[in-house]
Amino acid sequence: MNRRDFIRAGAAGLAAATIPAAGSGRAADNIVSEGQIGSLRSATPSDLQGLVGDGRQRRILLRGGVVLSLDPRVGDFEKADVLIDGKRIAEVAPTISASDAEIVDRAGTIVMPGFITTHHHQYETLQRSMIPDGLLRGEWPQESYFSVVQNIWTAGRITDPANPSNVIWDLGRVPYDPEDCYISELVACLSEISEGVTTGTDTSQSSHTPEHTDAMIKGLMDSGRRMVYAYSPGIDRSSNGIPYEFPGAMNDTARGIGRIAKTYFSSRDQLVTLGFGGGPGPAAPGADYTGWQLARAFGASIHNHNVGAPNVVIDAAADARNGTDWSDVTFIHATRWQDEPLAQVGYGSYGYPKENRSKAWEIWRDRGAHVSIAVLIEMQMRHGMPPFQLALDHGILPSLSPDVDTNMTTDPFSLMRGAFCLQRALANDLAFPESNPGGLPAPQAVTSRQVIEMATIAGAASNRILDKVGTLTPGKEADIIVLDARNINTWPMNNVPGTVVTMMNPRHVRDVLIAGKVVYWKGKLVGWNVDALLRQIEQARERVLARINGTPKVGQLPQGNNSFANPYRPNFLAGCCDKGQNTAAPAYVLRP
Ligand SMILES: [Zn+2]
Repeated sequence: MNRRDFIRAGAAGLAAATIPAAGSGRAADNIVSEGQIGSLRSATPSDLQGLVGDGRQRRILLRGGVVLSLDPRVGDFEKADVLIDGKRIAEVAPTISASDAEIVDRAGTIVMPGFITTHHHQYETLQRSMIPDGLLRGEWPQESYFSVVQNIWTAGRITDPANPSNVIWDLGRVPYDPEDCYISELVACLSEISEGVTTGTDTSQSSHTPEHTDAMIKGLMDSGRRMVYAYSPGIDRSSNGIPYEFPGAMNDTARGIGRIAKTYFSSRDQLVTLGFGGGPGPAAPGADYTGWQLARAFGASIHNHNVGAPNVVIDAAADARNGTDWSDVTFIHATRWQDEPLAQVGYGSYGYPKENRSKAWEIWRDRGAHVSIAVLIEMQMRHGMPPFQLALDHGILPSLSPDVDTNMTTDPFSLMRGAFCLQRALANDLAFPESNPGGLPAPQAVTSRQVIEMATIAGAASNRILDKVGTLTPGKEADIIVLDARNINTWPMNNVPGTVVTMMNPRHVRDVLIAGKVVYWKGKLVGWNVDALLRQIEQARERVLARINGTPKVGQLPQGNNSFANPYRPNFLAGCCDKGQNTAAPAYVLRP
């Protein structure tokens, strides 16, 4: 099986693939190389046969849990049953009799909608914790997200920041092959299913060739997770004869967004739906339509980064082609949008010389757009203060996102606690006049329930799937998680949202259903061979690393600060990327 066939066949094809004999000389062309044994799929455990079923219309009754429907019309229940009929939620009520259903006792658990996040670069999963101490940008050769992740691991090329036409180092290719993207996407999805995140949004800026794009979509679709695939650029090496198709063009279904819309996204009634990373300016050099117009022409939702660029919003609004209903647009980060940067948390004048209002936020509010806050990454990587208060001040409930595995976990409990504690830390600090000479208003001390809504309902709205999921509402698709509360870490339970946000972590995720299908049960992925997945993603990491450390076509890799022997091998035990930071404090002394 060659790479192209593998990508087409996906994991099912892998299960059937044969392993080439040692020395056959064909291993490099095969995704299943020597030493990789077993398949990614595993058999369904016998005790689950009744739940995963044989194709008949399954009915499952989750009995006796605490139910957080998050839908005020349905209500929440101290104890209730949830009936799932096929892919949909049939009923939520204190007692349901359904003799034809598989009845599952879930007393001592919390039954709630699956978590939904709204921004993640899933192709980076094989680079997990690559630069844990790194910033978004740093002065070269300081290792940063920009230099290590985007230049070295993604582009295979470094140009002089002061003179982009000056190429310092170039492999002549991107380090990832399509199958490396595939396994990253697949493992990211399954990992997040195991954390209770039933929907994610993948902005993998790795559409280096049409095959890379196909591989990423295949990885998402094979995972069985609900996803938005936000089609984004890759590294354009068309001048070297390598096919490059992003973004495509209006009325063109042969390449780019038109090709993938036609090939993969002709129906909205499927788990993976189409988004687009193109912006509100010209869709491509010379195009007389904007990226947003191109997205809308192919039914894609719009997902754009914005760090410290409120003028992009203002300019987008000034261009009539971008319309006035922006309910299909999500801006990610939305940090440093203040026209007056004195205060991250205040809104209004509050005695400062300039009024710290943001025209960008007002446009965002007035046009019904969404905000995705990568709370932990923004705090860690210097994007700016996560703008919860600005969003709330404008009547916007932001959603949460993990963003990049290179620096931080995707765990939704960590994301929720990050949002919750950040708001409280700011509010608590500003309560002291010494910290707040300008008399800024205290930020809203958000509640546990509000951050749960950020991680569910707001995510569904941003991803344009609130009609399908996000609450436990009869008629919606059954994306449901069961959290184990009767547990040594969490019992006795005295407050349900508080238990979820302030007590739990992914080990409490007991069961996960997506569109009524059991995908994670009693703490285990259903139908996947986890050892095989781990072997494959490790091997992908080794392949990509070997290419990076191969002979470049141009120049040499400049040495970084971290590991002079081999600067771009993951620095396994030492610190990363911390040179030049925190030099003011005296060296600390460890006392016995
Ligand atoms: Zn991002």
